[in-house]
Amino acid sequence: MKYYSTNKQAPDASLEEAVVKGLAADKGLFMPYSIKPLPQEFYDSIDTLSFQEIAYRVADAFFGEDVPAETLKQIVYDTLNFDVPLVKVTEDIYSLELFHGPTLAFKDVGGRFMARLLGYFIRKEGKKQVNVLVATSGDTGSAVANGFLGVEGIHVYVLYPKGKVSEIQEKQFTTLGQNITALEIDGTFDDCQALVKSAFMDKELNEHLQLTSANSINVARFLPQAFYYFYAYAQLKKIGKANDAVICVPSGNFGNITAGLFGKRMGLPVKRFIAANNRNDIFYQYLQTGVYTPRPSIATIANAMDVGDPSNFARVLDLYGGSHAAISTEISGTTYTNEQIAETMRETWKECHYLLDPHGACGFRALKEGLKPGETGVFLETAHPAKFLETVEGIIGETVEIPAKLKAFMQGEKQSLSMTKEFADFKSYLLSL
Ligand SMILES: *Cc1c(COP(=O)(O)O)cnc(C)c1O
Repeated sequence: MKYYSTNKQAPDASLEEAVVKGLAADKGLFMPYSIKPLPQEFYDSIDTLSFQEIAYRVADAFFGEDVPAETLKQIVYDTLNFDVPLVKVTEDIYSLELFHGPTLAFKDVGGRFMARLLGYFIRKEGKKQVNVLVATSGDTGSAVANGFLGVEGIHVYVLYPKGKVSEIQEKQFTTLGQNITALEIDGTFDDCQALVKSAFMDKELNEHLQLTSANSINVARFLPQAFYYFYAYAQLKKIGKANDAVICVPSGNFGNITAGLFGKRMGLPVKRFIAANNRNDIFYQYLQTGVYTPRPSIATIANAMDVGDPSNFARVLDLYGGSHAAISTEISGTTYTNEQIAETMRETWKECHYLLDPHGACGFRALKEGLKPGETGVFLETAHPAKFLETVEGIIGETVEIPAKLKAFMQGEKQSLSMTKEFADFKSYLLSL
């Protein structure tokens, strides 16, 4: 399948080119030319299929033309070696727990899939070293680093904002060694993202090094996130709750929710979507006004959503032909303060005995406030609450048990390189490699 750029000023790309380049030459994001609907028969029997079987059908629609069936199946099955259960929280609100992967966040799905697909392309082409640059507000770095750890022919550079990610998150990408290097940037997440984008646009750098991105701008990270929306629907169908499903996605860079919107385009019967924001509510403001005004991000307790200029907004616009009316029909928005997020976590823990993380809390609250009679709500619980240990314990006033997988990371020793947010510094570092 061919991919075009959302800016429409760059040549079309093959899947391989789109995955290796990450961003189009005109700084646009790659979009597949067609989003193939899946047949009714698939939706009728979806509740009899496993997560891996469902995901393979979805993957085949996107990647089947470009990757041999056996290889693609292997990539999908390897990627999804963990479950994504749908857990009841209230009578009509369910949590899609996306935190059962290796780094306990939803980004494991895209990170693991992309590592395997890129590894396949590198082997196939006999390419020399590919350098993956990834900016992280917390969870991307760990999911990508762990997804790529030990993959031959690939070196990963994780750029993260100094002092703005939790200790546990930091440990998950600074302790790995091998083909993973962590760069601690004296700036915000947006600064990190700007450095990565500038690197891709820099002619000299790209002549010296083969660079690619593992942020959700990369189609290999972004599209696989559609898998679990189908699986959520399958689980709703199993319990007879699939009519009038509303899916709420705690959103930052909008990669996750955009994958869900792609799912709807493929015929997935979701009635509507809600994008839950923290105070970084650029998308919410866009829905209200029709005007998109990026602004510097502000730090919140849902830090993985502290994004002031969501990169996948370009894909949302493109998907709906730039129509604010069309976007507003399928997606609504909410915005919550730290106090509201904390209150939701406290109350849900007390009343439902369900422990939310600060991101999932935005999603749960949006459903609690916004579900209409007859609707069933699913929010994406995007990370395990123990990843934000101090915040969560401080809010609920109790000790949170740390899963063994996380404890193992805590034992490692942090190794990182400090760097300013100046592109010149980053560039000379990369050139010196
Ligand atoms: C990355 C992340 C988000 C935001 O996802 P986007 O795809 O950037 O919108 C939400 N919650 C958690 C825990 C995350 O790590």
